[in-house]
Order: sequence, then structure tokens, then C-alpha cells
Amino acid sequence: MDVDKTVDEYYQQILKRNPGEPEFHQAAQEILSSLKYVLRKDDHYADEGLIQRLAEPERQIIFRVPWIDDQGNVRVNRGFRVQFNSVLGPYKGGLRFHPSVNLGIIKFLGFEQIFKNSLTGLPIGGGKGGSDFDPKGKSEHEVMRFCQSFMLELQRHIGEDIDVPAGDIGVGGREIGYLFGQYRRITGRHESGVLTGKGLTWGGSLVRTEATGYGVVYFMQEMMASNKERLHGAKVIVSGSGNVAIYAIEKAQELGATVVAFSDSSGYVSTPEGVDVELLKDVKEVRRGRVSDYANETDKATFHEKGNIWEVKADVALPCATQNELGEEDAKMLADNGCKYVAEGANMPCTPEAIDVFNTRHTLFAPGKAANAGGVATSALEMQQNASRDSWSFNYTDQRLRDTMHNIFRACNDTANEYEVPGDYVVGANIAGFKKVADAMLAQGVI
Ligand code: NDP
Repeated sequence: MDVDKTVDEYYQQILKRNPGEPEFHQAAQEILSSLKYVLRKDDHYADEGLIQRLAEPERQIIFRVPWIDDQGNVRVNRGFRVQFNSVLGPYKGGLRFHPSVNLGIIKFLGFEQIFKNSLTGLPIGGGKGGSDFDPKGKSEHEVMRFCQSFMLELQRHIGEDIDVPAGDIGVGGREIGYLFGQYRRITGRHESGVLTGKGLTWGGSLVRTEATGYGVVYFMQEMMASNKERLHGAKVIVSGSGNVAIYAIEKAQELGATVVAFSDSSGYVSTPEGVDVELLKDVKEVRRGRVSDYANETDKATFHEKGNIWEVKADVALPCATQNELGEEDAKMLADNGCKYVAEGANMPCTPEAIDVFNTRHTLFAPGKAANAGGVATSALEMQQNASRDSWSFNYTDQRLRDTMHNIFRACNDTANEYEVPGDYVVGANIAGFKKVADAMLAQGVI
């Protein structure tokens, strides 16, 4: 088999069948370039239309979400749920509410989710959803009415054994609460396993809020340890200031690092002496403010309006905001400034060109599907607790998260070594995630 030609044909088919979806093309191309290594050794993974089936979602749902704003105007948004692959378990993946949401973005996220969920070692398939609704500037009642209208349609398609959504950008504990309440009201069932990220008194799990950010830092510890280095004493940049970023900052500082900058879409804040995490949580989680508010309330921080966070000097960078936020020039700047480690807290925040720079400059790089898998893994632990009507302690759940991140790191590292690309965690993660899904798909037949 001419592997390069075959893989290129797969990619051309994906481009043709999915026009106008650049983020999905980008995610597919990254997986396909890693699969070349697999097909060179085991070309049976090209049998039974496996790759074509993998690239085609099992189901894509697009729906109207009408709601009424506080002035009495009718507003119309679009809702999405892409149920990509359920070979390993019920579809699992977050909901994103952001004005940039479209089908291509949900498909890229759903596709990545298949491999990420496989890497966790837990029985969960891949899916993703959301809406182009923008929660920013909306009142509590507008957010609630929107969530209720969104769930009125979504409830037809989800269930604890079918599809289990969670949060993502713009969807946190508040939105999950409104969504769960409406699901319970429509179905008349207290089906706790239908959503994750719930409140602690009604089926939520300890550590779920912290899990993605903590998990990224645990993964970074493993990467540094493999190079005989420690996070303790390191300078760290974390982009974003949402759920993932806040808990990455908290854990990095607990482990003795200094977080010297964080950001939102308006600019970044430099904090040479470290971040006051309690102040940050108060500004962002309680008051739903901006990072400039944080800088206004302490004399140990400076706000750089529209500034580029990647210009800050650091040993470690954790991009935790959104896709394609770190490009080629940013990667060069990081490497020139001595940054040796990058792990993606967000999904696909680094462009392919940036990743090429990291490879040539020997900056060790971890892709999101491995480094940020702690969030979905802990969601799966929430499902386990719901199924057994139990709730676990913080320490036990945190230890499960640490073990999961350790195992994911080992899988990426060992697979990269097996395919003779040591330290290439992109190839390691893609192949380790792919093989489990592919073996299950081949075993279950052409469906
Ligand atoms: P949040 O909504 O809590 O926070 C998002 C943060 O990113 C905000 O600070 C936001 O700033 C910033 N941001 C969003 N869009 C942009 C943009 N275009 N440019 C610059 N900054 C931007 O989301 P999460 O923290 O939950 O998610 C962040 C990333 O992590 C996403 O890629 C998500 O898919 C990924 N992820 C999340 C998981 C989770 O458990 N929550 C699990 C795994 C991955 P602003 O307020 O100005 O928009």
C-alpha cells in the first residue's frame, strides 16, 4: 500500500464532503498524519472503510432555539449536537455557548473528543454540542430562558446510556443547573447521569470543577519529570481565565510554580509575583468580571489591553482559552524567550505551524486531547458515582484524576517510543487513542 497516497485520498474526501469547515479539516489532518505511522505497520486499519467511517459523525443534529429577551423581543439561535462515535460507550462531550459556534467547530471538537475519551481508558464515546448564543451581557433570566429552550429540543437526543453532555466555553455550573432542571421537568425523571458538571448536592462530583485545569498541570509534571525537571520554581503563562485556566493556575502555584500572566479576549494581565487565586475566582466566578477588573484591584498586576500574552517570558506555557490562539510567530517568541514546555489546556489552541516550531526548537509539546483529558475523565467518574448512587471524597477523586493523567502520559510516551518518534506526544496520543477505537469498530462490524 502507498500509505502517503492513501492518506492523502482520505484527506481529499474529507475536504470534499465537509466544505467550509476549516477547524474540522485541521483536526482531521492532524490525526491522519499520525495514522501514516500506523498504516505503515498494520495496513488492516485501512480495511472495512474504517477511516471513512471514523471521519463521518454517526449523527448530526441542528435545531432552532427561540427565546424571549428581557425587552420582550424574540431571539433565535442555532443549537447543535454532533454524536460522532459511540463504539466505546455513550457519546460524551461538552456544550459550548459562544457566538463563533458553527457546525465545523462542533465537528472538530467532537472528532477530537473520540480520541481523548479513548485515551482516558473509560467507557465513553465522543460527541460535542452547543450554540451560537453569547451568554456575555445577558441577564440571569435570559440565560435561564435560553437554556430551557435549548433543552426542550436536546432532551430528545440524550440520556445516561445515550449521550451525556457537560460544560465547555460559556457553559459552567449555572448553565448545567438550568439545563438539568429543564430536563428533569420535561422527562419527570431525576436521571442524574444525563449531564455532568452538576452541583454537589444534586449528583455532582467533587473535583469536576477543578479537573481539567488540575489535569493539565499533572500532565505537565509528568512531562517535566521525564526530562528530570520540576514545576517547582518554574515561571508559567496560562492564557484564558475561565474554568480551565483558573484551576491550572491554582494547581501550578500549589506545586510551587509562579504564574506570571493570564488573559481573556480583551488582553492579558502580567503578575510577576504570581496570581492571587482567590481574587481571580472572585472576579471571574462570582462577579463574572473581566481580567482588567483583577488588575484594577491589586497593585501586583498590570493589564495590557489587546496585548499578546505569548510575549511574556516563561519556562512553561499552558494555552487554556480557545482554538488557534497560539500561532507560528507566538511559538517563535516563546522559544526565543526560553520556554521549554507547552501543554494545551484548551482544545487545539496551537496552530499546526506553531507545533512545527515547537518540534524544531525542541520545546516539548503536549496536545489537548491528552493534556486536557482530565475534565472528561472526571465527568466519567461523576457518571460512575451517579450509577452507584454514591459520592466520593475529594482526595479519592483527585487521586483517580492523577492516576488517569499518569496513565495517559505513559500511553502517549510509550506509543511515541514504539513508533520511533520519542517525545512526539502528538503522534503518541493520536495513535494510542485511535487504536482502541479502531479495534472496537472492526470488532463490531460495518455500522
Ligand atoms: P470558559 O468559558 O470558562 O473560559 C474561556 C476563556 O477563554 C475565557 O477567559 C475567555 O475570555 C477566553 N476566550 C474565549 N474565546 C476567546 C478568544 N477568541 N480569544 C481569546 N480568549 C478567548 O471555558 P473553559 O475554560 O471551560 O474552556 C477553555 C478551553 O478549554 C476550550 O478550548 C474548551 O474546549 C477546553 N476544554 C474545557 C474543558 C472543561 O472541562 N471546561 C475540558 C477540556 C477542554 P472572554 O471571557 O474574554 O471570552
